[in-house]
Parts: sequence; C-alpha cells; structure tokens
Amino acid sequence: MLVKTSMDQSLIEKIRDSIDILDLVKEYVPSVKRSGTSYKACCPFHQEKTPSFTVSPDKGLYYCFGCQTGGDIFDFVMKIENMSFNEAARKLAERAGIDWHQEDLLTEEEKARLKLYKLMDFAKDFYHKQLFSERGANARNYIKNRSLTKETVEKFALGLSFFDGLAQAALKAGFTMDDLKKTGLINSNKTDLFKNRLMFPILNHRGETVALGGRVLGDGMPKYLNSPDTPLFSKSRVLYALNFAAPSIRKEGRAVLLEGYMDVIAAHQAGVGNCIAPLGTSFNENHAKLLKRYTDNVTVLFDPDAAGLKASKRTALILLEQGFYVTVATLPEGLDPDEYIIKYGADKFKAITQNGKDIINYQLDKFLNGAEAISAKEKSEFAAEIMDIISRQQDKIIKAEWTALAANRLGIEQSILLENLNKQKKPADKQETKEVKTEKQNLISKFLPAEISIVRIILKYPAYITLCENLQNTPLKNTEIGVILKNVALLYKESADGFGLTQKLIQTMPEFKDFILELLAKDVPQGFKPKVEIPALIKRIEDFYLQKRYKELQQQLSSYGPGQVPLTLLKEQIEIQKKLKSK
Ligand SMILES: [Zn+2]
Repeated sequence: MLVKTSMDQSLIEKIRDSIDILDLVKEYVPSVKRSGTSYKACCPFHQEKTPSFTVSPDKGLYYCFGCQTGGDIFDFVMKIENMSFNEAARKLAERAGIDWHQEDLLTEEEKARLKLYKLMDFAKDFYHKQLFSERGANARNYIKNRSLTKETVEKFALGLSFFDGLAQAALKAGFTMDDLKKTGLINSNKTDLFKNRLMFPILNHRGETVALGGRVLGDGMPKYLNSPDTPLFSKSRVLYALNFAAPSIRKEGRAVLLEGYMDVIAAHQAGVGNCIAPLGTSFNENHAKLLKRYTDNVTVLFDPDAAGLKASKRTALILLEQGFYVTVATLPEGLDPDEYIIKYGADKFKAITQNGKDIINYQLDKFLNGAEAISAKEKSEFAAEIMDIISRQQDKIIKAEWTALAANRLGIEQSILLENLNKQKKPADKQETKEVKTEKQNLISKFLPAEISIVRIILKYPAYITLCENLQNTPLKNTEIGVILKNVALLYKESADGFGLTQKLIQTMPEFKDFILELLAKDVPQGFKPKVEIPALIKRIEDFYLQKRYKELQQQLSSYGPGQVPLTLLKEQIEIQKKLKSK
C-alpha cells in the first residue's frame, strides 16, 4: 500500500506477496497482453483506443500513461472497486486466504457501512424465508406460472414481502430505526417500504446485497419498485446479475443487455448466463464503464415496442462512446425474453443473442425496410441520424467501413456523408484527460532527457545507484530527481538487495508517487549496457550544468569593467573550462 495506514505492516506485505498483480488485473482487464518486460492494456480507469495502462509483475505495480495514476494491488482494488483501504485489504486478504483480523482498524464510517450490509443481508433472508411460509402459496404459484425452477429461486434468492414485519424483525435483531432508514427499507412513516411484493435482492458486481426490488403481486402500483439510492446503492452504478454473469461474459467475450430483472432471471435459467440489465433507470455512462471491465462487446436486446427501440438506440450510443462494439438483437412477435424462451426454448434464444446485427446495419435495415417510398427529406434526416451514430465510433477503420456502407445503401455520395460526419461534435470528456496530462507532464518536461533516463534506469536497476554519486554535486541535487536518487541510495543501503525498494521509496515520498510510477512504467531499451551507458548519461548531465554555469559566469564577468573582474569568478571559469576539456 502506498499510503500510510495503521494496519500491521507485515500483514500488508504478506497480502502483497501472496497476490500476483497481473492475475488480479487480468480479472478486471482481460485484454492485458505482454509487451517487453511489462504488460499492457487499454486503461480501465479512462477511455482510450491505444493501450497506455501497464502492469509490471516483477515490481507488483501498475501505471497508466493516459490518466497518469498507478500503484500496487491495494491501490488497484481501491480504485476499481471504489473501496477504502481497509475494505480493499479485507477483500485481498480473503483472496489470498490470509486471516484478516483487523476489524478494530475499521473507521467509524466503515463500521457503519458494514452494519448496513448486514441489514441488507438480514432483509434478503427474511423475505426469502417468507416465500416458503404458509402465507406464501400465492407467490409460489406466480413463480410456478413464470416457469422459474427451485434452483433459480434459490440462486437469485427471491423472496416475498407481506404488509409489514421486516422493520420489527430487524429491530429485534439489533438494528436501529436509523439503519432501516439509511438502507431505504422503511418509508417516511416508519413502515416497511415493500408491501405484498415478490422480492428480488439486488447484488452489486461484488456479490454484496445493496438493494431490493419488488414486483407487485396483484394489481397494485407501481408494478416494479426498487430501493431508493442509499449509501450502499446507486441505481446508476449497478447492473442486475452482473455478479453471476461475469464469468460467462468473460468466457463468451460478450454481454447481453436486457431490460428487466425477470428477463435476466429467465435467460440465466435457460443457460444464457451473460445477460444483465439496468434497474429502475436507463443504461448510462457509469453502467458502461462498469461493464468495460468485463468485455468490449455488448448485444442490446430490448422490447421491440417503440419505447424499446428508442432505448436501444440511446443505449447503443452510450456504449459506442465508451468504445464498445455494439450489436442489436430483436425477438419476433413482440415477445419478452422470458415469453420467448418458454415458447421457443433456450437454444433459439441463445442463437438470437449471438447473432445480433451491428448497430449501423440494424438502423439501415429498419429505415430502408420500414418505409415504402422514402422522401428526400426523410433520407436527409436519417443520414444525419446515422452519421451521429457513426461519429461516436472510436475505431477509425470501423468508422470508415460504416460510412461506406451507409453511403452505399442510402445511395448518397460518401463525401456528402463525410461532410455531415465532420459537423458532429466530438464527445466532451476527452478534454479532461488532456488537461490533467499537461499539468503532470510539466514535471517531466522540466528535466533533461538524460536526467529522466537516469532516474528511470535507477528505479529499474537500483544496484547501479553507486554510479550516480557524482550527480549529487550538480544542481540536480536540489530537484525532484535529486531527492529521488538520494532516497534510492539510502533505501538501497538499508535493504542490501533492493527488494521492494520502489514500494518503500513511494512510502518515503508519497507526493511523488505518480511521477515515480510513470518513470518506472516506461521500458529500458533492449540491449542496454548499464556500465557504459549510465556513466555516459551522467557525463551528459554534468556537462550540461557546467556549460550552463560557464555561460552565467561569462555574463557576470562581462558586466565588470577592465581590471575589476573578481578573481574567484575568473578562477571558477577556468576550472570549468578544464573540466569540460578533460572529459
Ligand atoms: Zn488511464
């Protein structure tokens, strides 16, 4: 861990030693590939087309050149799971099979969150039990009519709410009214939120119960009701069943986006396990970013009614902007996925999810097959619409292919379509990354290429630090690089073999973490000969400062009249001249 913590340092190190950062990263970024001595992938933390996210398994570190952040396994989990350090440590310890008996170290806030998670689990179990009670016969019948099996009911932990009972039971079990309020399980009038509903626990991608959904039994309104946003749950950041779907999404290389939880449950029961759905809100950018950790391919399968079509286009646009390859699939006869599966079987459903049309073909088909005679105005409007979609495509080759396809099928010159394309505005969020970059790059651009090279080499091969002693006699000494080199020298003496040196270095100077990680992530050229090249770099740096000082002296000297030149300055200038010549 690269920031200070009260946690037992040896425990942290034990966890760090037990987990290979590459294995860990691969779980979230399946596309990571070998490149030189490190591994590369498109960054999970910012949007990009060319990989600038690197992992160095030998150092146990990752770094992204695009968003310029990095760290060790703890930093990675904290960032990608949005966890506190203690939460990440607990998760990693569990993964490594190490006892994490550090509950005392939890902050008050973390303890409070843990209690809310426990309450959500309590509610889930409470409702699940009620489904199998005597009074649950009606609900069980409904489940039977939807053809859900016992295994499915268990896997998704379906439950049943009556008109009340949860709040009292929770209070009895030691939870408070405040806990109930915070988790949204009760109304403002302090009675149960969910009344007479079939209950669907909502788990986040980590498999923690963060909310509940309820489908009304009978005619009540609304038909579907979900927990409000709470400290544990933000509906714009949770995709239903992603915890179950993740392995299948990775295996298939594709996620299938459905509209609601009944659809998802039916699909999973039919063996199509890569299906997920947003809940109580439309699919948004946060959902897309979450999904990006698992795949680059998404098939959108929404209801074929007008609202569904509109939603599928909107969703496709969001996915395109986040760099997904999007296909659209449709079911015939206006059927829902669960209706379709019952009628035609799981295999046919699976085939439909695998054979979607890419978004451009889908839109073109819909437009060209739908209308009998297309007016010039309709064509022009549609062309603008289709170019809006194409403009969001990140891959230039696909973009060109799509433009050619659209021109061909619409019978419009490509050049005219391209004019339209150039008018489309670019996604706005690119700007942000750029600004961050310039601010941080100032630190690198402040130094000579040779200075950057030397510190990069030393971070990779600290054993050569002894060759750098002379640099501490140059003005480099007082810069960021000088301080880094000094600390490397000290730490190297302490550890003898340089093991874990980078981690310790960052602990010593956390404010330079990103700078150090960035330097470390760049490869040293192949065939690098340290004993020759390090002294050569050092000489270049020394010469630079000598020449700089020489020029300064010259300027100073020229300001004195004849005979008034101070001897010390003159002597210094001669010394420099000698040094520059002797080398
Ligand atoms: Zn990044």
